[in-house]
Amino acid sequence: MPRSSAKGSIVPRPFHAPALLLTAALLALRAAAAPVVSPETVAVQLREAALAGHNIAYSWLAELTTRVGPRPAGSANEQAAAEWAAARLKALGFENVHIETFPITAWVRGSEHGELLVPSHQPLAVAALGESPPTPAAGIEGDVAIFATLADLQAAPAGSLSGRIAFVAARMVRTQDGAGYGPVVAARIDGPQAAARAGASAFMLRSVGTDSHRLPHTGTTGYTDGRVPLPAFALSAPDADQLERIAAFGQTPRVRLTSSASYVRGAHSQNVIADVRGSGKPEEFVLLGAHLDSWDLGTGALDDGAGTAIIVAAAKLIRDLPHKPRRTVRVVLFGSEEIAQPTPPGHAAGGFSYAENHRAELPRHVLTGESDLGADRIYSLALPAAAGKEPFAATALRVLGPLGILAEHEPPRDPGTDVGPTAEAGVPAFVLYQDANRYFDIHHSADDTLDKVERTPLDQNVAAWAALAWLAADSEVNFRGASR
Ligand SMILES: [Zn+2]
Repeated sequence: MPRSSAKGSIVPRPFHAPALLLTAALLALRAAAAPVVSPETVAVQLREAALAGHNIAYSWLAELTTRVGPRPAGSANEQAAAEWAAARLKALGFENVHIETFPITAWVRGSEHGELLVPSHQPLAVAALGESPPTPAAGIEGDVAIFATLADLQAAPAGSLSGRIAFVAARMVRTQDGAGYGPVVAARIDGPQAAARAGASAFMLRSVGTDSHRLPHTGTTGYTDGRVPLPAFALSAPDADQLERIAAFGQTPRVRLTSSASYVRGAHSQNVIADVRGSGKPEEFVLLGAHLDSWDLGTGALDDGAGTAIIVAAAKLIRDLPHKPRRTVRVVLFGSEEIAQPTPPGHAAGGFSYAENHRAELPRHVLTGESDLGADRIYSLALPAAAGKEPFAATALRVLGPLGILAEHEPPRDPGTDVGPTAEAGVPAFVLYQDANRYFDIHHSADDTLDKVERTPLDQNVAAWAALAWLAADSEVNFRGASR
């Protein structure tokens, strides 16, 4: 008892005194140290917080893809997604949250059907291409003329395909950077026009994708003089194989295609805008973009719900810092990225609307970037040419290096569809390149659903975006270069 009593009276004393001293020392240290914490240290803290899963990307994405689901441009779902996002951004503490509406011609998939008639009756897994007109109610029936590439179809003599259905069989090549997409997507955009010129009654292509599932990949086709000349369809990869084998066996496949697609003229879409207001130069902007619309077959999880989740989560981490960056970090969730329009410029209606509405601000947009290639890991960073030699580039790469992100030696080739019009107006762009090996297995198909999103690479994306956006916003770097 005396011992314990003695302990009781003695032991707390040496504990209390150092604890008080320590607290006082920490407070003094914090007060003294707060202004000198380097931007790089803050960037590392943002990176580590995001990597540890302390970010809202997955919950944002789960809610968007579950509460709203698919978000075709101009649809009630797309508008509901914008209203949900704006309310959520306000609740998260973003400033200047608002919706900017713009007119579009929307497109609605009806019911659709494909079947093989010769050499035997077989179902075909087809999806109408976005913006393609309906068939007559009874469908369009014809022998299939197979072309290896779009260029081969374009070389077919005018009128030579009368009564037939043109089919481009080109396959997309799987690559890390998604470079296989460009060469084959041209057939999706320009195929109906080439088929119509050759006299065909409909157009088909092998889905622009890298999977072997029996799911077609939709996607927009292009207007020619304000209209899409022919009903156009994507075939699933196994169905495309089937047509090619039938031809190799010496027979001409004959198919029937039906679509009740329709247009909604006088529809509207919208961009959602939200700011983390800068503390020093709030009139200067670092613009982060992604698109809120999606195709209708899946729930738009990878394309591009993931992009919206990544940039919102990154900006939210910056928003919650004790010290705001010097410049404003602006998030724009673009509408109507996926669909073509009958009037010029014919694409990126959301991107052009933003650039038009904010023309006066664009000279004060210091840097922009877009996340629109799914949720797999980022492996490299491309900065504007003017930033390549700045200490900024070295700092950014030091912070991103532990994430497995290396420097691209060339400035961005294509900043992205949504920020494209802003970049064309002279705003410097960066690209965080993502691993696209798996992306085109899923892209624009019914498989684009939340279960395909993995949390670890999603967190890696948020870590990179948060760190880079912070560094750019808290700097005074002129990414335009000395000629500004
Ligand atoms: Zn996209």
